[in-house]
Amino acid sequence: MAANKRWRNAGLYGLLVVVLIALGTAFMGGRPSADNSPRSLRYSDFVASVQNNQISRVLISPDRGTALVVESDGQRAQVNLAPDKDLLKLLTDHNVDIAVQPTRQAPVWQQALGSLLFPLLLLGGLFFLLRRAQGGGGNPAMSFGKSKARVQMEPQTQVTFDDVAGIEGAKLELTEVVDFLKNPDRFTAVGAKIPKGVLLVGPPGTGKTLLAKAVAGEAGVPFFSISGSEFVEMFVGVGASRVRDLFEQAKKNAPCIVFIDEIDAVGRQRGAGLGGGNDEREQTLNQLLTEMDGFEGNTGIIIVAATNRPDVLDQALMRPGRFDRQVVVDRPDYSGRLQILGVHARGKTLSKDVDLDKVARRTPGFTGADLANLLNEAAILAARRQLAEISMDEVNDAIERVMAGPEKKDRVMSEKRKRLVAYHEAGHALVGALMPDYDPVQKISIIPRGRAGGLTFFTPSEERMESGLYSRSYLQNQMAVALGGRVAEEIVYGEDEVTTGASNDLQQVARVARQMVTRFGMSDKLGPVALGRAQGGMFLGRDIAAERDFSEDTAATIDEEVSDLVAVAYRRATTVLSGNRAVLDELADLLVEQETVDAEQLQELLLSRDVHVADYV
Ligand code: ADP
Ligand code: ZN
Ligand code: MG
Repeated sequence: MAANKRWRNAGLYGLLVVVLIALGTAFMGGRPSADNSPRSLRYSDFVASVQNNQISRVLISPDRGTALVVESDGQRAQVNLAPDKDLLKLLTDHNVDIAVQPTRQAPVWQQALGSLLFPLLLLGGLFFLLRRAQGGGGNPAMSFGKSKARVQMEPQTQVTFDDVAGIEGAKLELTEVVDFLKNPDRFTAVGAKIPKGVLLVGPPGTGKTLLAKAVAGEAGVPFFSISGSEFVEMFVGVGASRVRDLFEQAKKNAPCIVFIDEIDAVGRQRGAGLGGGNDEREQTLNQLLTEMDGFEGNTGIIIVAATNRPDVLDQALMRPGRFDRQVVVDRPDYSGRLQILGVHARGKTLSKDVDLDKVARRTPGFTGADLANLLNEAAILAARRQLAEISMDEVNDAIERVMAGPEKKDRVMSEKRKRLVAYHEAGHALVGALMPDYDPVQKISIIPRGRAGGLTFFTPSEERMESGLYSRSYLQNQMAVALGGRVAEEIVYGEDEVTTGASNDLQQVARVARQMVTRFGMSDKLGPVALGRAQGGMFLGRDIAAERDFSEDTAATIDEEVSDLVAVAYRRATTVLSGNRAVLDELADLLVEQETVDAEQLQELLLSRDVHVADYV
């Protein structure tokens, strides 16, 4: 069951959002350059506009140097900020919505990009925290701190455990908390010590917020929430005072749940920031610790915090009497996904042909949020198509949309480019289909999506997703598959004609190869050692500077081993494709003609033709 699995957070294992492996051809040149870059506004004009109440919203950049301004009529502009200490007061006086983009590390999906595979769900990672600063004179920092708008209170969340599916273990662990909130006296009477803090740990979209709300809903207590990144603001001292505020309000409303989302934004290991510590954050964290230690015994306040980065949290947070309880909220497995689909299918009109079981099987790696999104997309598609019910067609289209973004059917593609993309994708698909022990091809498409000129969808096996374990041969196959696009271009058009379309593929290959050598101990020359600390964004901040712990010689050997691995993969892809040139041509033709080819058609093609699979491994 999901909750019994240990939450794996190390680069490869934790963030395998490998729902599909999209081997996209990113055609950078061909993108229409839509004019959506905001015009720039002079600072003095900006101030004047604020005074005339013509500005509704301001998004301040992480370095506080610039801001994106939204005018009352919806127009956007960019402004370079002057160091003006009265600005804040001016903005609040004129009821401007202020959002400071927090200085954070790369959103989780970008970190996931740094992990082994090809994550495609670019969901919710990047967000601006919009909020309204309440007006009022006086010291702006003070009015910020007092601003109750940041602490949100829901007297009744209306969410129950019935709304949360697929994470039964986590629910079970929290029923105790519900019991306590309902009957604190019973527990106090027998001298039971109630946990003060519960830390929910899991990837984004798995239902942490939902679960916290459900606890409040089940217990019938108010739900206070605030996001950790909102604590960390530009004015020193604000975070700490906001924490005091929060607890003041909570005490008045006990029993209640206090939910701190993204606690890693404040609770990061102290002294860990890039370029020195962040005083503001540390003060906020200290205040939080003080508050948690301060309330004695069973006051009826239970703090629930959520994070997807337990690895960076300050150990002080985990001490007894603080967040001493951790509940893992993992990605749902197949049966969990089916239950979640069940929850979100409520209130939607699905036609009889919609088979949720099939959907659950096709979506390993999807979180609850992805699944909710999927069914919602399907409903929107059905409405757009003026249907009375959602049919399996909409559901299938929605799965792909959630994975890879909407298709861009209207983008004109020249016949020549269409053929090139077709060969590129056919190359990926054919190598994938002909490699022993690789994920099955789900669909090949040359309809552009996002920045991808075309995509080949693979269905990763549930088992691999579950265990997060990838064999050496799987990784070798994966590199060959990723190179398949480029190799097909080379074979068909000659080496001089290859395009930049494969640049994503090549980056992925290089990353896989390097990780095999330095992290998974899969190199013959270097043997089973891990070299250097985890790379990528995972530990950014704490040890970015301390990555290298090996000699120049070793570094050279690593490079050699990496290029060997890539060379072998390249050779294998070439062997497969040149040995099956006729099938490659046919598949490309089929793609040019139909734009998409599904699993069955590919199978049919492979079965009816003479394919050569034997001797390249
Ligand atoms: P997190 O806080 O872990 O990032 P959320 O709780 O914000 O995730 O989930 C976002 C939405 O996704 C929820 O409001 C709900 O609609 C859906 N969702 C996520 N997990 C589940 C789940 N386990 N069961 C039902 N719905 C879920
Ligand atoms: Zn490609
Ligand atoms: Mg959340």
